[in-house]
Amino acid sequence: MNERRRKQKIPMVHLKKEMDLLRDPIYKAVQEVLESGSYILGNKGKELESKVSRYVEAAYGAGVASGTDALVLSLEALGIGEGDEVITTPFTFFATAEAIVRVGAKPVFVDINPNTYHIQPSNIYNALNAKTKAIIVVHLFGHAANMDEIMQIAKEYGLRVIEDACQAIGTEYKGKRVGAIGDVGCFSFYPSKNLGGVGDGGMVVTNSQDVYEKICELRNHGSEKNNKYKHSTIGYNSRLDELQAAILLEKLKYLDDFLIKRREIARRYTEELNQFVKTPSIYLNRTHTFHQYCIELDNRDELASYLIRQNIATAIYYPIPLHLQQAFLNLNYKKGDFPIAEKISNKILALPIYPLMDQMEQDKVIKAIKEFFQTI
Ligand SMILES: *Cc1c(COP(=O)(O)O)cnc(C)c1O
Repeated sequence: MNERRRKQKIPMVHLKKEMDLLRDPIYKAVQEVLESGSYILGNKGKELESKVSRYVEAAYGAGVASGTDALVLSLEALGIGEGDEVITTPFTFFATAEAIVRVGAKPVFVDINPNTYHIQPSNIYNALNAKTKAIIVVHLFGHAANMDEIMQIAKEYGLRVIEDACQAIGTEYKGKRVGAIGDVGCFSFYPSKNLGGVGDGGMVVTNSQDVYEKICELRNHGSEKNNKYKHSTIGYNSRLDELQAAILLEKLKYLDDFLIKRREIARRYTEELNQFVKTPSIYLNRTHTFHQYCIELDNRDELASYLIRQNIATAIYYPIPLHLQQAFLNLNYKKGDFPIAEKISNKILALPIYPLMDQMEQDKVIKAIKEFFQTI
């Protein structure tokens, strides 16, 4: 390896590389929007809604300002609020549970499956009571959660199911795309997500016309469909703008290719590293689109420092399970409540993965990890 190569930094994500590839169509799309004079709730947004909903095989899609807002508006559209409880996982990005509190409801955590890191369906029963209204299931890191069992519990107890598919656009469960299996699916277009814009953005997908229409009202100040200045409810300002939509439409054309690349890199990592560390599980009849590629090991922090000295970035998703977050102190959870989530947050480490990661970059990561295990 020459000096330049050796010193070259390997980041967790490399969005500039994608911009270099897509510069011409993206600049053209941006220019088109700028010249159109239509910047919010216009044709690009509509086209993105119809393309994304078709892509995930849902009847409707409503663009919103972020993945977080997709969750908040979904809960509200399903009538969940004050006095209600929503079951979810403590091992997810903060926004999943934040959204529950935002609508006035109470998050109830249950421990996860140690191999998939998803909510463990059998643990849900103990958390159910008369106030339970919904389950938010998270397709963490891009791997599909066990939807059959979740849907079965929901049916049995009359609960709504919200899929937090923010990390999992294009992921499949038994041949169905996630997001379109539960009552609503939430997607994020945050720049580093598998389909990312150049700012914040999100989408709610659903097969219910009623839920779709409620989301459209809520995102636009509760104003009615055919009468903009008639407000039937208190809403939000949470719209996806035309510039983001136009850019996302260009990036959507590359999504399938990019997901294949992510899976190829993941396959290589697993092949090369599974004798040293625990590598991600992919369950039968599900796909994994590797928004993150996470390994598990006891000396996680030592490996992370070793890699950073070699100019290789890593990240920890997630270092503090949600039940131990200060913001949720009032929920009265304590250390030891969810031992699996707690144990995994001490052992998990995400490696660099991005669609345009080249062979040399992959080699460098693999080689450095192997070297680390030779030195200890
Ligand atoms: C990114 C993410 C969100 C929030 O999406 P934003 O667009 O950043 O608001 C919610 N849940 C999960 C699991 C996420 O990864």
